[in-house]
Amino acid sequence: MPGKAVRDRLGRPLLGSPAEGIDPYLPRNGNIGYRISRYELDLEYKVAANRLAGTAIITATALSGLDRFSLDLSGSLKVDRVSVNGKRPAKFTHRSGKLAITLATAIRSGAAFEVVVRYGGTPKPVRGPWGEVGWEELSEGALVASQPNGAASWFPCDDHPSSKAAYQISITTDSPFYALANGRLLRKRVKAAQTTWVYEQVEPMATYLATIAIGPYVRIPVATDPVPISAVLPSRLKNEFAIDFGRQGQIMTAFVDMFGPYPFPEYTVVVTDDPLEIPIEAQGISTFGANHCDGTRDSERLVAHELAHQWFGNSLTLTRWKDIWLHEGFACYAEWLWAERSGGPSADECARKHYDHLVDSCHTGTLGDPGPDQMFDDWVYKRGALTLHAIRIRLDDNMFFTLLRDWCRDHRYSSITTEEFVDFAGHYSSESLRPLFTAWLHTAGLPDFPA
Ligand SMILES: [Zn+2]
Repeated sequence: MPGKAVRDRLGRPLLGSPAEGIDPYLPRNGNIGYRISRYELDLEYKVAANRLAGTAIITATALSGLDRFSLDLSGSLKVDRVSVNGKRPAKFTHRSGKLAITLATAIRSGAAFEVVVRYGGTPKPVRGPWGEVGWEELSEGALVASQPNGAASWFPCDDHPSSKAAYQISITTDSPFYALANGRLLRKRVKAAQTTWVYEQVEPMATYLATIAIGPYVRIPVATDPVPISAVLPSRLKNEFAIDFGRQGQIMTAFVDMFGPYPFPEYTVVVTDDPLEIPIEAQGISTFGANHCDGTRDSERLVAHELAHQWFGNSLTLTRWKDIWLHEGFACYAEWLWAERSGGPSADECARKHYDHLVDSCHTGTLGDPGPDQMFDDWVYKRGALTLHAIRIRLDDNMFFTLLRDWCRDHRYSSITTEEFVDFAGHYSSESLRPLFTAWLHTAGLPDFPA
């Protein structure tokens, strides 16, 4: 059918008309015709001037014969040079957030190819319905918080969560500053007044979870077992950190027990010198503002929430944004599970409290497809968590936690959909869960409280 996209088993377009877009929630993001397997980003960042210069080496495979293709890259960065398989393309253009490359020699279907993009400029966040996301300049340093479409603010990419790849991120910046990126630190080299930090992220990662944190930080160890945990923060906040994040190791132990093995080699908590409106997850990393580190432990719910995203969102990543409850509903339920496990209110008490708020809120969307304007609304988080509570009540604890652990094990590092979760959960119940899912996911009105 002309112009009709050919889709894979998860509904992602492989071929067809780019006008159809990868995802109706973010129709301008993502690209078709190829699949990226690896990014190597070599970045130089001048803190005082907020100037970024980068070279991106992108390894991809053509899914069809390609004579042209595109990447996402914000217009605040200027492209200096492009090569494909070591050759200049016939032409490239960079407008409206797309770097469009027309090849001198077509790439055959199934062939691997390498794109090198040299670029630079003053990175700025991407403005959209969800505020400003992506690269953010701090008082001293920078951070990246890209959910959902900020990745193109700092590197050329196929900016969609269904496109997961390995990364090597190298950052060269002024020596007094600490520079963190996803993955393991491979090496650190000090040369004159500059330091280069090279990180390798082996497990596949969605673009929005790629991050850097540059600032006046020190690294301190937090726990070694069952997972190495460390903190990267201004040393002035060490004492408060010891209180606010004092139970980080216990939360990790509880989640490993409930969700199965932690999916990455290590976990790092970043606390910025500046306040941040909300904390944000990245792969292997969570970033909090100085305001979340005030010695009151009032933000512990968020400490649990961000850690839970390492399983729900980072290892298991949605295929389309409409399935956002698979990230936020699960992370929110993890908050309630931690409250219960740590001697606070039970998950049932948390569920009851938030159910009553939801009744008052009279939200209108459906959880299985809340719409781009509502996908990060609080009701999506709470109704998603209540959906899990309803499943837990239906199954019993033993079956429910087996379901969560099996879900995480069988879909580790992969792309997931709501339909897959519904099918998967069905195997853990002696009676059909379809009516439950229809009521909670696909009906606007709030079902009765699960009892
Ligand atoms: Zn979240």
